[in-house]
Formats: sequence, structure tokens, C-alpha cells
Amino acid sequence: MAYTETSRRARGFTWVLLALLAPIGADTAHAEWLYREAAIMGTRCAVELWSDDRNRSEQAIASVFADMRRIDLLMSTWKPDTQLAAVNRLAADKPVVVSQELFDLIRVALEYSKETAGAFDITYASVGYLYDFRQHIHPDAAARLAALPGINYHHVVLDAANRTVRFTRKGTKIDLGGIAKGHAVDRGIEILRRAGYDRAMVNSGGDTRIIGDRFGKPWIVGVRDPNNEAVSFLRLPLTDAAISTSGDYERYFDEGGQRFHHIIDPKTGDSARSLRSATVIGPTALRTDALSTSVFVLGPERGLELIERLQDVDAVLVTPAGKVLYSSGLAPPVVPAASVPSKPD
Ligand code: ADP
Ligand code: MG
Repeated sequence: MAYTETSRRARGFTWVLLALLAPIGADTAHAEWLYREAAIMGTRCAVELWSDDRNRSEQAIASVFADMRRIDLLMSTWKPDTQLAAVNRLAADKPVVVSQELFDLIRVALEYSKETAGAFDITYASVGYLYDFRQHIHPDAAARLAALPGINYHHVVLDAANRTVRFTRKGTKIDLGGIAKGHAVDRGIEILRRAGYDRAMVNSGGDTRIIGDRFGKPWIVGVRDPNNEAVSFLRLPLTDAAISTSGDYERYFDEGGQRFHHIIDPKTGDSARSLRSATVIGPTALRTDALSTSVFVLGPERGLELIERLQDVDAVLVTPAGKVLYSSGLAPPVVPAASVPSKPD
């Protein structure tokens, strides 16, 4: 009883204090940059925005993260009960009905396959599923070559009228890991836009999109050194743009002097090894995500050729020898290739 009395008295005191402080808080109408992180889609995701109402902004950020969790559930191939897992299990036997969102993403993925001469190919998973980068498992040459004919985006047949996916070949599997994060980032930006935010950044792993500026200044996005997570070799000033980096350091293991990592060359079923990282800047995160994976597979010459051919994108590549290559829209180099800490200002 005595305890309750004391705490009630203490609470009364707190209310008085809050009442005294409240008008001051209201006067300053707290506007601020708000930054939040969450672990979703197997990576670190982040949102930053200019907020003039902390509660409303926290809610908006929570809906971005909730939508990322929803997309993860729709697309994950690791979880057995996702729509995508059902497609992989059944589509070689019969057409499988999927949600409009998944259907549209698969359709866009197939368009990127055409645009990149098959470097971007969601059927990479026909061989890709034989790798486990956490467990340091890769297929031997015989297993890789046996599964290789499953890779070919022409094996995926879409029927828009019935919203179905069908595979023309047994053994074909698909995985949307090359665009799912970009899609999630674009969705996040759309959610924030609809809520009225016009200065914001949404990031998921290597994929980032920005709307607006930082009051007359651009946002600064660091491109990390493939050899050192803590170091950016380049800092890019961006407004209203998306940027994605694909690297051989995200999910990998080294064995026998070779790196096995998560970006697979559809021609060989083996990890692509002619670049260390590929960064693409463009209008949407879906586009930069798909193209960064594509350029990584294509390598320096054909990768830059693709970027130069497309009007709305630029790229920065790091070769295995550590050379940095820029597409013509970025050359001469924006900033000398000095080592700059990757922390945002
Ligand atoms: P991250 O997932 O680390 O952001 P990327 O955007 O480069 O990196 O995407 C790599 C992912 O894309 C892989 O984890 C895999 O799910 C998928 N992928 C791998 N190779 C290909 C390919 N040739 N075409 C399309 N998707 C691919
Ligand atoms: Mg990508």
C-alpha cells in the first residue's frame, strides 16, 4: 500500500513536470531526420526521412518494414510455404496460379533476361539451389552440368489471362533474389510518398532509393570497397535516384583459391568471376537491382556496353585487379578513388 501511495505521488509529480514541458515541446514542433533499421529479407534494411511528426513517421516507417516482410513471405524460396516455393514444386506439372504482384515480377524478370541477353535469368536457380553458401556447399562439375539445361528463361511460360506460371522443363526452378529487394525498396518509397513524405531514403542490403534532397544538398551514398566492408572507395551525391551494388562478398565462401558466391552465370551455372562489384545508378531500385546483377554476370566489357546502350542508367565497376571503371555519364571520376569511411555524414 505504501508503495502504491509513493508511486502515485511520484506519478503526480511527473505529470506536473510534463505539463510544464509540453508547451516548449509544441513550440519547437520537432522536425528532424529520422533513421530506423530492421533485419528483413536476410539483410539489413533501413529507412531515413525528414519528419515533422515523430509518431506519424514511426508508423510510416513501420509500414515500409511490414511490407518488406510481406514481400519476403511471398518470394522466399527458403520457406516451404511461399507462393514461389509452390511454383517451383508444381509448375513443371501444371500451370500454377499466382498473385498479380508475383506474376508481374516474373514478367519483368523475363524482360530483363531479353534485355541482357540472358545474363539476368531467374531460372539460374535450377543450378543455384545446389549451392549453400552458409554451409560452404557447391555442386561438383558433374552435378552442375546435369542441372544446367534447366537454366533458360524460355522454360518459363506466363499466361496473363489466367495469371499462371508454367515450366516447360522438369528440373527448372526460379528465384527472384536478383530483383525482390529492389522491388521492396520501390514499394517502400511508394508507401512513403503516398503518406506525404518527399525527402526519404529506403534501403535493403545493396539496394537503395532516394526521393528529394537534403535541403539543397544531395544525399551521399558510399560504394563499398569489395575488400573492406568499413571503407567506401567512392561517395556518390544523389537526389531522386536509385542505386544498387552487386558484389562477390555478400554470400560466399572461398575454396581451393576460388570464390564461390551468390551471383551465378546462367551459361555455366558457376559463380561469375569477371568483376568484384557492379554498381548501377538509375531511376528505380527494381531496375538498378536487376541491372547490377546483370552487369556483374556480363563482366567489364559487355557490362559497360549494356549500360552505355541504355539511356537512363550509369555504372561503376570494380575488376578483380582492383581497377575502377566508370560508364560515360560518370566519367571523369566524380571523386578520386580515395579511401573514405562509409558512414553517412
Ligand atoms: P544481393 O542479393 O546481395 O543484393 P544481387 O542484387 O546482385 O545481390 O542479387 C544476387 C541474387 O540474385 C542472388 O542471391 C540470387 O538470388 C539472384 N541471382 C544470382 N544469379 C542470378 C542471375 N544470373 N540472374 C538473376 N538472378 C540471379
Ligand atoms: Mg541486383
